[in-house]
Parts: sequence; structure tokens; C-alpha cells
Amino acid sequence: MIDQNEALLDQLEQIRTKAIAELEPVTTMAELEEWDIRYLGRNRGELKNIAAVMPKLTKDGRRAVGQKMNAVKSELESHLKARREEIRQKELLATLEKERIDVTMPGRHLPVGHMHPLTRTIQEVTDVFMKMGFQVVQGPEVETDYYNFQALNIPADHPSRDMQDTFWIVPGELLLRTQTSPMQIRVMKQTRPPVRAVVPGKVFRNEAIDATHEAQFHQIEGLLIDDQCTMATLKGCLQTFARELYGEGRQVRFRASYFPFTEPSAEMDISCGECNGKGCRVCKYTGWVELLGCGMVHPKVLREVGYDPKKYRGFAFGMGVERIALAKYGINEIRLFTSNDLRFLRQF
Ligand SMILES: [Zn+2]
Repeated sequence: MIDQNEALLDQLEQIRTKAIAELEPVTTMAELEEWDIRYLGRNRGELKNIAAVMPKLTKDGRRAVGQKMNAVKSELESHLKARREEIRQKELLATLEKERIDVTMPGRHLPVGHMHPLTRTIQEVTDVFMKMGFQVVQGPEVETDYYNFQALNIPADHPSRDMQDTFWIVPGELLLRTQTSPMQIRVMKQTRPPVRAVVPGKVFRNEAIDATHEAQFHQIEGLLIDDQCTMATLKGCLQTFARELYGEGRQVRFRASYFPFTEPSAEMDISCGECNGKGCRVCKYTGWVELLGCGMVHPKVLREVGYDPKKYRGFAFGMGVERIALAKYGINEIRLFTSNDLRFLRQF
């Protein structure tokens, strides 16, 4: 029995020496894992094999072998722990080295988009009016005959309907709005004076398309209603707008005009920015460029929305966004805006 104990103690010593020797070249976690299983593994580790025969030993033998085994085991475990920490540190350093970021390197250039010239024009115009206390509202592109025509003092037999060739969805009832003006009615019906609103949006006309006409284009409508508004308020407000948008040096003029829903009505022109009013190809040698249509809201329209025309007055105006953008950027072809041609769009 003593021989068997001695043999087992020898065997443990050999395992210890061999294990320490084999640990020496281990440099990766995977190798360390294998080593752990080989010597300390719970199922087939070398120490486990010795533990398996211990129950057959005498009491003294069990104690001696048991003590030696625990000593070997804890020694190997502390080697394992130390080596594991070493490898972890080394791998961490390697990762840091590999993933080091050179903050002085030039960045990668990503293509950046920008706003469409029409969107930009709409924003510039509405920004000016917002500074004057107007609120921006939007409305439906499919309108009823009532809002698009009747409520704006354009009854079914009115000759001005001929001026606006209409895309009908349900003839006589539903249509693609021909103007942003129906929002005047919607805004007034939903609120009480004072009213200050601008309405940007798409409008549709069943027109022959050429360099200056599209079947779909954009308008910005404006409306101001209160108890003191006069034609002078209109002129002051729109003059301020024109100078904010185009600069102090530009002149404006008003010409009498006609719209069914305003009385009196006017067109506002701005002095040509190309020739400074001297006359050139852009302004057709007049020195002036048309900017917008405007007028005092017709009493019939006020009555239609339940406002008392003796108490409340107001003015309305409408402008074509494309026309403003054409003039602003010196473009001579309206169809370019919706051509999706990047060569065109990238210029802005
Ligand atoms: Zn000119």
C-alpha cells in the first residue's frame, strides 16, 4: 500500500512539473483553455484521474495524496489565473494598437444634398412674412368647386373661370386647386380676426406647357384681416416684403388690375434687378418685372365667411414661386425645376 501511495505522490509531482512546463509556451486564450481542460478539467483532467482512485486508498494514504493533490491543484490554478490575466492584457494592448485612430487624418468626404431652389424660395418668402407676424398654413390640393371658385366670388357662369383651365376630378364638384386662394376661405372660416396667414402650395392648371408655363406650379397666398386695414397697409406690407427679399435698392410699383375676390385689385412690379430699371431682355425693356397680384378682400368674400365688411377689412396677395425663382436665379426655362437634372440642381 505504501508503494501505491508513493507512486501516486510521484505521479502528482510529475503532473505538476509537466503542467508548468507546458504552460510556458502558451500565448493565447484558446491554448490556455486547452491546458486548463487537460490538467484541471472536471471530467477528464489529469488530477481528476488520480482523484478517481483515492477511495481505494487507506486513510493515511488518502490524507497524504489528498494534501499533495490540493497543493498541486491550487498551484496550477494560481498559474492559470496569472497567465490568463497576462494574456488578456496582451490582447487588449494589441487591440488598442490595431484600432488606434489617427485624428489628424483627413476625413472621408460624403456627398451632401441641399434644398431644391423652389423649396428654398418658398422658405425665403415665408420667412419674411413670418417676421411680420404672419403664420404659415397649408391646405388640400384637391378642392371643392365651392372653395376654389364660388366662395371667392367666382360663380359657375363667371368669365374668369375661362382664365383658369381646370383639372376636374368630379366635373363641377371636385378639382385640383387652380390657386392657393381657397385657403383664404378655409382660414377665415376657422378663425376670427385678426388674421395673418401665408399659404405656400402646389396648384394645377390644364395648360399647354412651354418655357414659362407648367401644368403644376407653386403659389404663395397671403391674407391679412383686421378692423383697420387699408390699401396703404397693403402697400406698406408688400413693399417691405419686396425689399426684404430683393434688397433695399429695389423700387416697387402698383398697377390697377382685376381679380374676382379683391376690390380694388392691383399687380405689384419690382424694378428689374438685371438692368436696375434701365430696360433689358429680362424685363422686356420696361425696367419692371411682375412680382405678385394683390388687392383688398372683396366684401362679398368677407360676407361669405361670416365677417361683417363694415367692421373688418383686409388684403390678400398671391405670387408664383417659379416666377420669383426664375427672376432671382436668372433661369429662363421653368421646366428645369422638375426635370430632376442634377447638373441643374447642383448649381444652387
Ligand atoms: Zn431689365
